[in-house]
Amino acid sequence: MAEILDGKACAKEILSDIKAQVEKMTRKPSLAVILVGDDEASKIYVKNKEKTALELGFKSKTYRLEKNTTAQELKDLILNLNLDVDTDAILLQLPLPKHLKAQEFIELIDPKKDVDGFHPINCGKLLTDTNPYAISCTPKGVIKLLEKNNIEISGKHCVVIGRSNMVGKPLSILLLNKNATVTMAHSKTKNLSQTAKTADILISATGVSNLIKKDFVKEGAVVVDVGISRDSEGKIKGDVDFLEVSKVASHITPVPGGVGPMTIAMLMENTLELCLKNAKF
Ligand code: NAD
Repeated sequence: MAEILDGKACAKEILSDIKAQVEKMTRKPSLAVILVGDDEASKIYVKNKEKTALELGFKSKTYRLEKNTTAQELKDLILNLNLDVDTDAILLQLPLPKHLKAQEFIELIDPKKDVDGFHPINCGKLLTDTNPYAISCTPKGVIKLLEKNNIEISGKHCVVIGRSNMVGKPLSILLLNKNATVTMAHSKTKNLSQTAKTADILISATGVSNLIKKDFVKEGAVVVDVGISRDSEGKIKGDVDFLEVSKVASHITPVPGGVGPMTIAMLMENTLELCLKNAKF
């Protein structure tokens, strides 16, 4: 049976280190979260982020904007936060209501306060391996979880399923920067199971529940499940058929309790790092 990659425990350790560091700081890291509209999942995510930030001793402020907020109002808020010396990190919770185009607002955030690492400057710095101000939290969390469990990345064949700007693409670049050989797969990939089966490290980030079956996985491969979806009873599911795949994988992440907690921990780590870097500017 596969060994569990326990994201919850790993995140707990990281958060406890951050808390200890923050206790020694006179100026506490500050995170501004912008939530537009009333998407139920986003409301829960934002609440959790706010709660964790406050537990760590950060200053955290959430700006809750109405669903019908205009582009100008959102733009003004972001530009004000860019100028605010008391704000180290800005998080724009996605998705935005349909009339607001996310990329337009991501590009307004000061790259030095871009805690999600989504700004094109930070994406470019990631691509060129030249110290982004922040790295996208979920991909960074996946790498940290592998490293904390002593899973070698260099020289390994990694197959990443999913090619979004938020998860699949940055994760593939991070793995490449760590000397993996990377294959990116997606919804148009032919023979997905055959491609997946060549992976030493298989990472799935699609949101398609039970996509990854036992016959997608090479004996002894490491399997990381980023996906989150809900079944008919509202229960959280990953992309991976956990029970079956556990029989062939060497290591596997559970859902929940795998990548999810690591994402929140990396958000907090990014906030702290931006605060420390901003102090130097
Ligand atoms: P997205 O919808 O932007 O991208 C999904 C990707 O999956 C696309 O590139 C698509 O080509 C690919 N895909 C879809 N169906 C496929 C199929 N049948 N076969 C192969 N590829 C397929 O989503 P995203 O923002 O990248 O998120 C992916 C998943 O990860 C979602 O379930 C999301 O909820 C989850 N997620 C989890 C965390 C976390 O902290 N655990 C963080 C971010 C996203």
